[in-house]
Order: sequence, then C-alpha cells, then structure tokens
Amino acid sequence: MKIPSRSDVEALDRSDPLAPMRGRFHLPEGMIYLDGNSLGPMARSVPAAMDTTLREEWATGLISSWNNAGWWDLAITLGDRIGQLLGAQSGQIVVSDSTSVNLYKALHAALALRPDRNVILSEAESFPTDLYMIEGVLQACPGSECRLVDFSEPGLNDALDDQVAVVLLSNVNYRSGALLDMQAITRKAHEAGALVVWDLCHSAGVIPMELDAWDVDFAVGCTYKYLNGGPGSPSFIYAPKRLHDTIKQPLSGWWGHAAPFAFETGYRAASGVRAFLCGSQPILSMAALAAALGAYDGVELADIRTKSQELTGLFIELVAANCPSLGIASPCDGQVRGSQVALAHENGYAIIQAMIARGIVGDFRAPDILRFGFAPLYIRYVDVWDAADQLADILNTHEWREPRFQVRSEVT
Ligand SMILES: *Cc1c(COP(=O)(O)O)cnc(C)c1O
Repeated sequence: MKIPSRSDVEALDRSDPLAPMRGRFHLPEGMIYLDGNSLGPMARSVPAAMDTTLREEWATGLISSWNNAGWWDLAITLGDRIGQLLGAQSGQIVVSDSTSVNLYKALHAALALRPDRNVILSEAESFPTDLYMIEGVLQACPGSECRLVDFSEPGLNDALDDQVAVVLLSNVNYRSGALLDMQAITRKAHEAGALVVWDLCHSAGVIPMELDAWDVDFAVGCTYKYLNGGPGSPSFIYAPKRLHDTIKQPLSGWWGHAAPFAFETGYRAASGVRAFLCGSQPILSMAALAAALGAYDGVELADIRTKSQELTGLFIELVAANCPSLGIASPCDGQVRGSQVALAHENGYAIIQAMIARGIVGDFRAPDILRFGFAPLYIRYVDVWDAADQLADILNTHEWREPRFQVRSEVT
C-alpha cells in the first residue's frame, strides 16, 4: 500500500467537515499540539466570557450573582450540556470537584448499594488516582477489598463473582488508548449483580456513548482534557435518575443539602443529582468551561469519532512505515482505539523533549510511552503528517541524544 504523501493529506483537510472548528481555538503559531488529551487548548470565546464573569458578575454583581447570574445552578446547567455529549438526559450530571473526589463519591455510593458484597473490581493498568481512591474508599468501608484484573474479556468474566459490588474501569486507557466496550461490559457486570463506575477522562468529547441507554450506574470524567475547560477545571459525575432515591454519597457537604440556606444542624440530602455537590463551586473556572463547551455547538460526535479514527490511523501508518525503532502500543484496530496513539521506546522521554523543541507537543508516560492525543476539533491531517515526519527525522539523526533532552521536569 502506498504511504500517503503530504499533498494526499492536504486533500483530506480540504474535504474535512470539521475543518472550520479549528478556528474556534487559540493555537500558538507554529505549534502542533498533540496534548489536548492532557490539557485542552483555550477556545477563543473564553477570555471575553471570563471578562464578563469577572467585571459584571463578580466586580459589579457581587453576592447577588449567585442568584442573578446563574452561579447557583451552574453545576447543573454545565452538567446538562456535557450530558448532551454523553447520551445523558438532563438532571443526571453535576460539574464539581476533581475526578479523584468524584471517584470517591461514586465508589463509596456504589458499595453502599450492594451491602451483601464487598469487592471493588478494577484494572491494574488504571490511571493511578483511580487505584489510590479505591484504597481510600476501602479504608472507610471495613471488610471491603479490591481485586485487580489484567483486563481482557475472559479476565473480567472469571473475576465477576458474587462478591463483586462494583466494577471501576476507564472507557479509554490513559496510556495505551485502548477503548473498552462500555455497553457490553456494563451488561456483563449487571448480569453478575455488580454496579459499574466508568471513568470517562479520555473519552468524554471524542467517543460517542449512551450512558442512559446503556444503563450505566455512575460515570466520572475530566473537563480539562478533550472538553477544553482549562487547567484544573472541575470534573463531572453522572448518576441516573433511577438511582437518585437510593444513593447516598459520602461527602455530605452543605451544597448537597436539601436546604443549604436553612442552616439546619443535621444533614438531609438534596433530591436528584444536586446531592453529589459538596462545597462551594469554582465559578471562575466554570465560566471558562461554559464558554469552552461552545466549541462543541453544532458538532456531531459521530463526525468527531470518524475523523479521530482517521487521524490516529494515519499516524500509526506513517510511524510504522518510517520509524521502525518505535513500538506501537495502541490498538491497531481503530474500532477499539480512543483518540490517542501510544508509542514505545526506551528513550521515550528524550524523544518527546526533542519533539517539543521542534514545536510538536506530545507527552511522556513512564516508563517508556510517548503519547500523542489527536483532538479532531482542531488537529488537521497535515499536522499528523508533519508530526510523524519530524519524529522520523529526530530518530534518524539521533537528535534526541543531546544532553538538553535528558533533563526531567516535574510534569512530563
Ligand atoms: C486525567 C485523569 C484523571 C484526573 O483526575 P483529577 O482528580 O481530575 O486530577 C483521573 N482519571 C483518569 C483516568 C485520568 O485520565
């Protein structure tokens, strides 16, 4: 098969229905940003929206803005907007806290719904905070334990016995980019009597899904990756209406109280998904997120998915052809691949630094993974071609061996 030339892929950009969406983002001149799966770029609409929130709502409206500027309901209204990307009807998602904190709420609540069972089942390859938060939940729930499987369909089948209360899995693995079948696994877990908690950090905004129709019990995810909410923007948590009357989330703060401004002595949970709130919300960060989500207006997730598979498939094809020293650590089958590509090389860190020096930004995940995210709203086919071309050059010239590329930073 003929390897696509640069002009071949330029033609793909010309016929790309999502091409105009790139204009919705501020992207530094001369940079190819393949790290939107770690921190999404800023949408152009954000500074003006933040300015309004700062000058009109905070500086002028002051405390009245909780009532008059939509601040009080922002956690819910943002959740509803995100729900449109996840197949969730309104009133089932709130935006608040970090993914780590929301994992705690969801896992603890799920365990409590299965009092005759005591096992949280997850994957050894999970993002570490997911595993750390399981440890925290186990400490708070005496008698509970964690079982880690090496994920594979048979592995999950064997592990799903009648002690499993809850299964926590990432829809897309943060390192390999492997995509799990949420619908099938949710069904399997339910057949075994367990609940599921899905971590959507690497799939929200790039993978079409139907949380309601697939009967998902809980889901959590970041807003600063593909949803472009900005550094540290709050995460979201989904719990379906069918569970609202029975769920108890453990972080019983006043924002989740039925009547926060009654200042009662005892806790009474709010009805609905509001019960998942804990304390005051980061309104400035949420204002940025609200504006950023506008970048999804008028966009079909099916188009995003199609382009995502083409971008990642093109990158894999070019790397396989031109960079024989790199291992492909992501699934080669586009159907089971998220929107990122992981490559393996023992000097991965230095190679990534050499690419960053050339304006191509990916990241490194220890011990040996070079990770590249392809966000279809703003990445062009020609960016993929150029990134693969530069990568091949860095490997062929051994440029990555320069001492300046060996120095490790805190965030990799
Ligand atoms: C990015 C990411 C997180 C981040 O958690 P925070 O608490 O929001 O920092 C959690 N889980 C997964 C799978 C991630 O990729």
